Amino acid sequence: MRYEGPIYRPPSEADSLLIQATVGCPHNKCTFCMTYKKGPPFRVRSVQEIKEDLEKAKDTFGDFIQTLFFPAGNTIAMPTEDLEQICSCARSIFPRLKRITVYGSSRYIHKKGLAG
Ligand code: SF4
Repeated sequence: MRYEGPIYRPPSEADSLLIQATVGCPHNKCTFCMTYKKGPPFRVRSVQEIKEDLEKAKDTFGDFIQTLFFPAGNTIAMPTEDLEQICSCARSIFPRLKRITVYGSSRYIHKKGLAG
């Protein structure tokens, strides 16, 4: 598994497959949060790399995965087209998938606008 930075997931994702789609947090200014204060800086991983990690997870766990969490702060900030591609890929690789989750603050959701 390729992963950069601290892994932080909510208890509700205890049984989920964790695949990193973004690194760090694009905001990183909440005074109460130390998760990414020492880095790594925010960046979006390539769709190709993320798809490779999904394929690798299938090799390891089979197609039994039912919940998938893309960790790191505000993964919702990644380009919508990229997010759509990795979600569609995950759905085709794991036919029993029922839920995909990301962290996302309202600021980054609002930035996408109605079309995005
Ligand atoms: S948006 Fe989330 S991850 Fe980013 S600094 Fe704030 S609490 Fe931490």
